[in-house]
Amino acid sequence: MVSSPEVGRALSFFEKNAEAITEEQIRFCSIPAPPFGERERAEYLSEKFSSLGLTEVEIDEEGNCLGLIKGTSLSPLLVVSAHLDTVFSAETDFSVTRSGKRLLAPGISDDGCGLVALVALARAIQTEKIRTEGSILFVGTVGEEGEGNLRGVRYLLTRGRWASKVDAFLSFDGPGMDRITNRALGSRRYRVEISGPGGHSWGDFGLPNPVHALARAVAKLAGYPLPREPRTTFNVGRIEGGTSINSIPEKAAMDVDLRSGADAELRRLDSFFRRAVKQAADEENATRRPGDPLLEPKVDLIGERPSGETPSDSPLVEFALEATRILGVEPRLDQSSTDSNLPISLGIPAITLGAGGTSGASHTLAEWYDPTDRELGLKRALLVILGIVGLAVDS
Ligand SMILES: [Zn+2]
Repeated sequence: MVSSPEVGRALSFFEKNAEAITEEQIRFCSIPAPPFGERERAEYLSEKFSSLGLTEVEIDEEGNCLGLIKGTSLSPLLVVSAHLDTVFSAETDFSVTRSGKRLLAPGISDDGCGLVALVALARAIQTEKIRTEGSILFVGTVGEEGEGNLRGVRYLLTRGRWASKVDAFLSFDGPGMDRITNRALGSRRYRVEISGPGGHSWGDFGLPNPVHALARAVAKLAGYPLPREPRTTFNVGRIEGGTSINSIPEKAAMDVDLRSGADAELRRLDSFFRRAVKQAADEENATRRPGDPLLEPKVDLIGERPSGETPSDSPLVEFALEATRILGVEPRLDQSSTDSNLPISLGIPAITLGAGGTSGASHTLAEWYDPTDRELGLKRALLVILGIVGLAVDS
């Protein structure tokens, strides 16, 4: 396949156009895309898809941006995706600055480098007139991060017009060249709200205090006896509440993320956590004066990602392993929580790849991306895509 002249040209396309690809990435990232506010970025991506001659270009009901490169046949149909949303709110300054080789901006890597990979791959395929047997559906998804709870990919694969037609799924999330994520990391996410009567810090002292109860719950969770294996994590990522320094709060709330490589361990962590919240409220309630009202903890499940695996001997994983080695890099199979969780849970072979380059400080305002050697990631992606959809027989 690599010996076909147009594929050879497409592979060198990425090196030749490295600077243009980086410029494109900067334009993408400058468009704010907070959770549930991805529209402007989706519209920008759909203009790109149209200008590159993709067909069936649309923004679907959920907000995903789609465009098709149709092969000889509609099947096999491979989804190639990256997520539009960032973890940052709408007020964030998304403008990109440069420092040496590094680009700095929130979301520049996660998933700015994935989004620009979609455009670069589509551009290389169209410019070099590569004709494929199967078809490629490029998708910028909404709702990958945090509270988005995979709503974009869920709609795409369960309710959208392409739902029953997708044969394989590839997504780009962040940088790198060795990582092949074929195992889906399961997670459960909660919002905990504790409310009480509230009052004056001096005059009403003795009333149960929601912040104190929340702190007791956090302390219990932080003391969770972690297993060595499988990797299991918890995070209290956001906390809020209270009125003023001299008020007993009426409300306190936190957002909690629980993850584990194995379902059984995730269930254990999950029940420990819910017990911890209940005990924390009970302990705080036990300090109240007779007749004071009780604190009421409310625990809402706000996100749940299924776990699962695309077997390492499935063609999609094998193409990815092979393509990585052809490019001189030793591949590494990996487990993570990405858009691929959803197709994996539906039995659709799915992997997530790094889109090349390096990055750091992900999910912080200091996030950076270095595009050096990005072309390796894009070459690998092209080889995997063509492995799955195949070159048209007469090309
Ligand atoms: Zn991401």
